[in-house]
Amino acid sequence: MIIILIWVEMINNNNNNNNNNNKACTTTLTKIEPIYINIKIKQIKFKHKHNIPLDFPLDITITEYIQNLKHDSLLSAHTQTNDTFKKFFPSIPIPKFINPDFYTTQFYTGHGHFQKYLHRIQRSNTDTCTCTNNTPQDSIHLIIQCPHYTNIRHELQLHNIISPNQFVQNKQTYTKFKLLCKHIYTHLHTLSF
Ligand SMILES: [Zn+2]
Repeated sequence: MIIILIWVEMINNNNNNNNNNNKACTTTLTKIEPIYINIKIKQIKFKHKHNIPLDFPLDITITEYIQNLKHDSLLSAHTQTNDTFKKFFPSIPIPKFINPDFYTTQFYTGHGHFQKYLHRIQRSNTDTCTCTNNTPQDSIHLIIQCPHYTNIRHELQLHNIISPNQFVQNKQTYTKFKLLCKHIYTHLHTLSF
């Protein structure tokens, strides 16, 4: 019971932009419905199985009702998530091949080892990228524009991409995108030591 309460808190707390919240939100949007919806669905199935009256419109089936619940909860989570995530995924559903990992989650959310984020949480004196004095270093700049990563983008044949959404259009491009995220993260992490 304690674990369930922690998860609900993480998903509901919209103003808390910590990394755990990002991971919970990203996972919710890509893989599962929030725990509180999962519990509600289990309750509905239990009542249905035991012929206990259900409180939902009579003109739809129980399967449709559950599908609507899942869709509405994902729509709500998507509306509440941050703007960087929406640049990758402007709408739901999220493709099934999307499987967030340690690296990609940071790029989807913009909350990672990026100067713009570090500056915001007062871990850096500047928000600008090392490639120029005028460009904020956020995840979108790094994967699309930053000249530090021109070579790796060419190697991975991702150099023609101009919008974050294009990285997640198909499985083949997405696989290369994961490599790009890992490469950039590793490089930035090395620079910081
Ligand atoms: Zn740069």
